[in-house]
Amino acid sequence: MTLIDGKQTAKEIKEELKVKVAKLKAQDHPVPHLAAILVGNDGGSVTYVNAKVKACAYVGMESTLITYDDQVMEKTLLDKIEELNNDDNISGFIVQLPLPKHIDERKITLAISPSKDVDGFHPENVGRMSLGLPAFVSATPNGILELLKRHEIPTEGKDCVVIGRSSIVGTPMSILLSRNTPTGNATVTLVHSRTKKLEEICKRADIIIAAIGKPHFVKAEMVKEGAVVIDVGTTRVEDNTKKSGFKLYGDVDFETVSKKVSFISPVPGGVGPMTIASLLLNTYKACVQSSDKLSIPQK
Ligand code: NAP
Repeated sequence: MTLIDGKQTAKEIKEELKVKVAKLKAQDHPVPHLAAILVGNDGGSVTYVNAKVKACAYVGMESTLITYDDQVMEKTLLDKIEELNNDDNISGFIVQLPLPKHIDERKITLAISPSKDVDGFHPENVGRMSLGLPAFVSATPNGILELLKRHEIPTEGKDCVVIGRSSIVGTPMSILLSRNTPTGNATVTLVHSRTKKLEEICKRADIIIAAIGKPHFVKAEMVKEGAVVIDVGTTRVEDNTKKSGFKLYGDVDFETVSKKVSFISPVPGGVGPMTIASLLLNTYKACVQSSDKLSIPQK
């Protein structure tokens, strides 16, 4: 069994980006600048956003964190989004989800300019991705493709099962793996809470990608000998023995499943760091694309 080390792979990507960003700076080119809007103080969201800001600093990108309390009005957020859409200093931005119930997430997503939508959640980017056109691809599925590619795990002709059909992970993942591309060309089955015989379907898979948020849902008996298993799940479970007060659980029962598979990604240290690395890649791309549009010369 080979451990798919997302932390190490993300570090490699960040080192590559560091060099590229330094090159932009040396050319007096605008530096990629990520803005993040954080609403409320949900522990997970605060941790993720802080990690994104820290990662920007590591690769030499700029970042701006905009925070609101959880009573913020939808209109205030929409006005801020409009401001960021029109701010030439901002390459791209994200609105950390989930948002409080009184805010319509769909409306917020639609308000973000597709050219600055580095999370890849805007329908225009989702549509373009589905058609194989240039797009910002949602950071988590893009990070998973990068993990597969950099671990030289072939997908062509493989039977792949994606568990979970969320619009930010499962659905785009299933589309990306089924496209006619070097990291696609798989035969993909997307399963969810209404799927019958889910265990049987999983058992046939060469590659399983679990994104449901149910700790240890994927057990050894659901997995074929030698399969590749990618665990996206991150569920916080209270644990007083930990300094943080919680332990992070994946969707896969790592202990038993790892004994049967050829490759497996752990939680933590698997997909999570790759999501951040992908966001940085998208921000770099947004910066270069917007400069191209403004005809800023690159030496
Ligand atoms: P989500 O919106 O919470 O949706 C969960 C999906 O799982 C739904 O499609 C649901 O089916 C399906 N599901 C739930 N219970 C199931 C069951 N018993 N059998 C089969 N399918 C079931 O999903 P998400 O936002 O993609 O998040 C999934 C997990 O990934 C969470 O733990 C989240 O924290 C984690 N995550 C991690 C990262 C990262 O960077 N590491 C990024 C994003 C998400 P229905 O559609 O039928 O309800």
